[in-house]
Amino acid sequence: MTELSRRQVILASGAVLIAAPVQARAPGEPASARSRWGLLIDTGKCSAECNVCVETCKAEMGLSGHDRPLTDAQYLRKVNVRDPATGAAHSVPVMCQHCAKPACVDVCPTGASMKRADGIVLVDRHICIGCRYCMMACPYKARSFAHEDQTGQQPYLPRGKGTVEGCTLCVHRIDEGRPPACVEACAAKARGAMLFGDLNDPKSDIAQRVAREATSRIRADLGLEPAIRYQGI
Ligand code: SF4
Repeated sequence: MTELSRRQVILASGAVLIAAPVQARAPGEPASARSRWGLLIDTGKCSAECNVCVETCKAEMGLSGHDRPLTDAQYLRKVNVRDPATGAAHSVPVMCQHCAKPACVDVCPTGASMKRADGIVLVDRHICIGCRYCMMACPYKARSFAHEDQTGQQPYLPRGKGTVEGCTLCVHRIDEGRPPACVEACAAKARGAMLFGDLNDPKSDIAQRVAREATSRIRADLGLEPAIRYQGI
């Protein structure tokens, strides 16, 4: 049994967490609109002190940084928010929201920003000309620009100076039937705040939770229809 590739019970931080299975496509089979991959993030399980998902993302993607926090590539970040009326505070993981109607794709002049049939939004760095229109269009501040030559690259994630990059939802893992690295790490090392799965599959845990429980999307008013849903904010 591959790790987290089937329904399994995980013991983490004293809690019993249920991880949803991920259905891998057969080799050579194209991505299909039958699937709509997404995340459900329970901010009630996410503490401001925990950075497991962020650090795991950096390691998975080979993002070493250049000691420039404002411009270093970061596919996933924690955003601390506070309701001024009540004082309630939350630490929220924010990444590319993999919108059904992505503004980045609309403005990209070259077609480098694209959406796969299964809803995953990607950048083809061989086509990207680094104009950064997509960075300006994205309301989630989810994209980074590579200012320097890149080192320590992973074979599944080509990166290049002068191009734009962002969260791929770990498409290299999804295509192998594995969940995104942040989801796996949160389940194993933290409180299992993230649930990954196919929003189009009514039998999936994520689809059933979304149908049953109150969830929200960041800036839902923009009508971009993100695939990342939240609870607790
Ligand atoms: S920076 Fe690259 S991906 Fe972004 S809009 Fe320009 S060409 Fe497209």
